[in-house]
Amino acid sequence: MNIILIGLPGAGKGTQAEKISEKYNIPHISTGDMFRLAIKNETDLGKEAKAFMDKGELVPDEVTVGIVQERLQEEDCNHGFLLDGFPRTLAQAEELQVLLSNMNRHVDYALHIDVPKDQLIERLTGRRICPTCGATYHDLFNPPKVEGHCDRENAELIQREDDQEETVKKRLSVNLKQTKPILDFYEERGTLVTVDGVQEIDKVFEDIQKKLG
Ligand SMILES: [Zn+2]
Repeated sequence: MNIILIGLPGAGKGTQAEKISEKYNIPHISTGDMFRLAIKNETDLGKEAKAFMDKGELVPDEVTVGIVQERLQEEDCNHGFLLDGFPRTLAQAEELQVLLSNMNRHVDYALHIDVPKDQLIERLTGRRICPTCGATYHDLFNPPKVEGHCDRENAELIQREDDQEETVKKRLSVNLKQTKPILDFYEERGTLVTVDGVQEIDKVFEDIQKKLG
């Protein structure tokens, strides 16, 4: 089973990816891991990607697609894969289509974990960090015993700049803009399945299993 996982930051993709990968016995391929591996192994494409990253530039699609292609040709992908973080743009989705058809394969499901934007903002801005011991908390999911203070040494918790509302909103709107055409792309091809991500983790996974059959 070849699956593309789609969801905005905070939608719970990582958690569900682990469960899907285990249940269906397919490798979870995240773009981040893939890049790190290619760079560590110093493959030609890995070196190219690193050169762009070192300059602080975006890695061009042809390099990214090449790295994805190399990864999908590995033996552990013979019976399927779960792609996470790719395609990120419509152009990449189109590239992936070509790449897979050259391999006589196709996307079975584009699995969209749907969480409304305001919920995502709540999830993403809730993280608090202890500047003393590094412990992390979350207003909703893992609150400290005393509000605003670390359970260990009572230090005042801080919010990282990345987690602040304005930053989060900007990040989400960029992501939303990129994601919408990808959803349309797979919808038109009849492979899009959407699950409600505003539920307990296990319930989300139950719904995923129902949709994937
Ligand atoms: Zn602490």
